[in-house]
Amino acid sequence: MSIVRVALPVPIPQLFDYSCDSATHEDIGRCVRVNFGRRQETGVIVDLPTESDIDPARLKPVEHLLREVPPLPGDWLALTAFVARYYHVPQGEVIALALPPDLRRADEVDDRDTDPLLALTPAGRQAHDEGGRPSKARHLLAQLQAAGPTRKSVLRTWPEGTACADLLRRRWIYAVRPQNPARTAGALPTLTDEQGQVIDTVAAHAGGFAAYLLQGVTGAGKTEVYLRLIERALAAGRQVLVLVPEIALTPQLEQRVVGRFPDADIVALHSGVADGARSRGFVRAMKGEADIVLGTRLAIFTPLPRLGLIVVDEEHDPSYKQQEGVRYSARDLAVWRARQREVPLVLGSATPSLESWRHAEQGRYTRLRLTQRAIATHLPTVRLIDTRRIKLEDGLSPALIKALGERLERREQSLLFLNRRGYAPVLSCPACDWISACPHCSANCVVHLKDRRLRCHHCGHDTSIPHACPECGNQDLKPLGRGTQKLEEGLVARFPEARILRVDRDAARSRKHWLELLARIHAGEADILVGTQMMAKGHDFPRLTLVGVIGADGALYAADFRAPERLFQQMMQVGGRAGRAALAGEVLIQTEFPDHPLFQCLQRQDTDAFARMALAEREEANFPPFTFQAMLSADAPVLDDALDFLTRASDCIRSDAPGGIFLYDPVPMRMTRLARRERAQLLVESASRAALQGFLSEWMRRLYRLGTARDVRWRMDVDPLDV
Ligand code: ADP
Ligand code: ZN
Ligand code: ZN
Repeated sequence: MSIVRVALPVPIPQLFDYSCDSATHEDIGRCVRVNFGRRQETGVIVDLPTESDIDPARLKPVEHLLREVPPLPGDWLALTAFVARYYHVPQGEVIALALPPDLRRADEVDDRDTDPLLALTPAGRQAHDEGGRPSKARHLLAQLQAAGPTRKSVLRTWPEGTACADLLRRRWIYAVRPQNPARTAGALPTLTDEQGQVIDTVAAHAGGFAAYLLQGVTGAGKTEVYLRLIERALAAGRQVLVLVPEIALTPQLEQRVVGRFPDADIVALHSGVADGARSRGFVRAMKGEADIVLGTRLAIFTPLPRLGLIVVDEEHDPSYKQQEGVRYSARDLAVWRARQREVPLVLGSATPSLESWRHAEQGRYTRLRLTQRAIATHLPTVRLIDTRRIKLEDGLSPALIKALGERLERREQSLLFLNRRGYAPVLSCPACDWISACPHCSANCVVHLKDRRLRCHHCGHDTSIPHACPECGNQDLKPLGRGTQKLEEGLVARFPEARILRVDRDAARSRKHWLELLARIHAGEADILVGTQMMAKGHDFPRLTLVGVIGADGALYAADFRAPERLFQQMMQVGGRAGRAALAGEVLIQTEFPDHPLFQCLQRQDTDAFARMALAEREEANFPPFTFQAMLSADAPVLDDALDFLTRASDCIRSDAPGGIFLYDPVPMRMTRLARRERAQLLVESASRAALQGFLSEWMRRLYRLGTARDVRWRMDVDPLDV
């Protein structure tokens, strides 16, 4: 009989031993189902120890050992073990997060591709070129011709997507892989000199680990650089992992990657991919069959036996950090993973995180620069519009109104950026000062006039807009402030001839809606886009020449020390949408603080000057990256219970804390109440990452023994983003 040591997804920081008659060392990394307490749990065998602390006669047997799927490889187990150690969470929880749904249930995975890439056959191309009577089928054919090879699941979301079966029947389209590798890749663009140099630098790398920070202005052609590097890796028989910050960005990048590498086996992994497809992709990657894995932060946990390159696009993006459960940073793990597997890593951004920028400055990362746009001759011009002494109409300055009018005349697109969805941030009663506070959070419910709802964007609380003030009965309630819906309303009244399209999470409720919106924008069906940060990232709309920014000032003096960094990155990103192709672009930023150094850097589009300034401020205040932080947070129905727990947590270690470890006092969080729970936090800091880690290990041991009072939940967040 063998003993197997299993990592289980339970909130207990240990591994569990079971007996298994047939297990051998070959089974390390295999999924098992076992009895745990009164329920069944699924876990992964991480070791085959020769003896157990538990009496062998009392070891419970494994219920099911999944042998139909290859075992998870050792380097993958090492990755999950590192995450468990560094973020101080049980390894079983990391594994449960990292595994796709079927494996998490220890179910078999059928790895046949049921979501193939579809492309035009020669007959389809002929049919398209010859044209014919307009029909759903021809319309869909034209879309596919324009978009290039596309996943069936995506195609079916297009306006005429139902004609897909019809096209297949007429043999106008076919599933590109794996049955028939006949395809065409378009002609490659000639690299710019800068792109060429960047690629040569990486290509000259002798092998082993290397980290590159690809700092390229918006529209510089970073994606083209990734594609060339991917091409080299594939030619060398290696697999490539590409991380993108948001699902919303994957369809476009996937299409470019697929268009470039039609015979490669490309796997998309993100939460928008259906469970079955995700499991299949994971297993194909693990078997070494997939060539390119493209995904959001979760994809960092893909086993890749032939891994040869990791790319992290928009590396500064905060969504690389998971904010619940296992609070890992996929960007940071990518660095660890590249070092573990001894492969090169490319971190790309127009506005690197201050952490990465500093690493490049210190020579820990090799900096690669793209200073020129690939197609457009210039970066957009940035103008600051001082709104202190002018009258705004519907939130718009005369200069911005004029600029919008000019774009309409020239039939170019404009984008108005306002990072606040809904109609107005709050409803108020002028008679008694009642406001639409959320009953469950320390936040206000946002007015959604279209469907006459009041919604909390934090907990989802949702009620109808009252006809009269609930406090005093006054019927004249006023929405205060401005969200995207109100901005849209003002624009419709002002520019009745313009086609105005709002793009925020309300308009793009699902992936399907989002893809439809993107298709409409690309098809030129909008003159003015009103968008939140969904619109800021990565998009390439050739006729977009004006970006107007509204309501950005709030972040300048926010309590969060990272707010200015985010604001700068976001402004650079959104500004970067303007004038990417042949037409020149212009960015107008409305602000009451035109002299603020951040806006001055923005006007010059000088990322380095901003980074230098922001880092000097961080150093002065001793904020990260000049110090390392961890945050213990607790929540409970009653604030005092959360604070009490943190006080006890602090007391249990304070007197033993080594020098150089700084424990702050427990305090309520900035947004104290969320979804009926009161939240508090305790920050711990050290100038040494190693010292902090050593301290956390000991502290966690004590915390698990501490016990909690009535309904208190707690968690540790290492390298927290929101403190
Ligand atoms: P970034 O990601 O750096 O903002 P992209 O990679 O999206 O920029 O490139 C911007 C535009 O320039 C895209 O339309 C891309 O196809 C085009 N492009 C990139 N490199 C070249 C090149 N060498 N020649 C011509 N066009 C290019
Ligand atoms: Zn009132
Ligand atoms: Zn709420």
